[in-house]
Amino acid sequence: MTRLEPRVRDDVALMSGYHSAQVDVDIRLNTNESPEPPPPALTEALADVLRDIEWHRYPDREAVALRTAIAARHDVDVDQVFAANGSNEVLYTILHAFGGADRRALTFEPTYALHAHLARLSGTEVLEIERDADFAINGDEASRLLVERRPELVFLCSPNNPSGVADPPDLVGRLLGVVEGYGGLLVVDEAYGQFADHTALDLIGPERNLLVTRTFSKTWAMAALRLGYVIGPVALVAELHKVALPYHLDAFTQAAGRMALSFDTEMADRVAALVAERQRVAALLADRDVDQWPSQANFILFRPRAVDGATVWQRLVDRSVLVRDCSSWPRLGGCLRVTIGRPDENDRFVAALDQALQQETSHS
Ligand code: PMP
Repeated sequence: MTRLEPRVRDDVALMSGYHSAQVDVDIRLNTNESPEPPPPALTEALADVLRDIEWHRYPDREAVALRTAIAARHDVDVDQVFAANGSNEVLYTILHAFGGADRRALTFEPTYALHAHLARLSGTEVLEIERDADFAINGDEASRLLVERRPELVFLCSPNNPSGVADPPDLVGRLLGVVEGYGGLLVVDEAYGQFADHTALDLIGPERNLLVTRTFSKTWAMAALRLGYVIGPVALVAELHKVALPYHLDAFTQAAGRMALSFDTEMADRVAALVAERQRVAALLADRDVDQWPSQANFILFRPRAVDGATVWQRLVDRSVLVRDCSSWPRLGGCLRVTIGRPDENDRFVAALDQALQQETSHS
């Protein structure tokens, strides 16, 4: 019998998936991870956690102990918290509950590509509003377009990846009011929230159409763990539990997440150190022939003025320094994004950048 190929969904066939270059280099400053592993005492405690797991049993389906610990940290009720395998899965779950066929999600571009990608995967149509040249959102224009288009879901990313720019609290409050006016849902992705001066968590309330997502991948130095969560009103969070797969969060992740939360002080110190280091790198970049945007995250977006961004990226790789090449992304022509690393890594980056920018000068 002849074999007929199974036919993938038409929209999936057109997708390209999510890619991030993985190049073997000494200094990896391309994926916004923590430059330091978790504190050694936490790593040791995780070995005990591993030993104590009842491996023959399914994990707690509701992840109550973990959610209780997260809730305590944010001073909210346990039923206001939903956790999943990384904030990407949290976002996907939100889209499954509130997006889908005949529904629309709106993003402010340029922003984290996964918002639109996950929306499409869930069958949700994607609408876009462009940010200004400085990557700020124009409140008047955004309000007008939201009322006109009434998307069921509106994504903010604050601080925004890849620009690092954070949305001012009054803008977030204003857009939330607009979205509530027509029955939409505002999702604020705060993957980098702890590095910023303010948070949309302050706006959470039982009568608000707001969900705020966070991750353990950056601040908590646990990108390998895959743990993220969302805080919101009880009624909205309850809908997320309905669409999550049974036992989606394994026992180790639940226990490890709780253990990580008990290292609060160490993590706060690391965030403070990274913020100080970000300010140092920003000051160094200010003395170089590049434009940069004011970052509230653990990375900085910059654009070499005299040399093409992709050329600078390759020259950095040649010097064993990897940053994110955003130069061919829409609205980011010539831009590169550098994650804040350890001081020695940042020094290597700046030294390599000087050479990369210099190289062109000596040729011209
Ligand atoms: N949101 C933003 C803005 C991000 O940059 C990232 C990671 N690159 C994520 C969410 C996903 O993080 P994770 O799934 O590791 O929690």
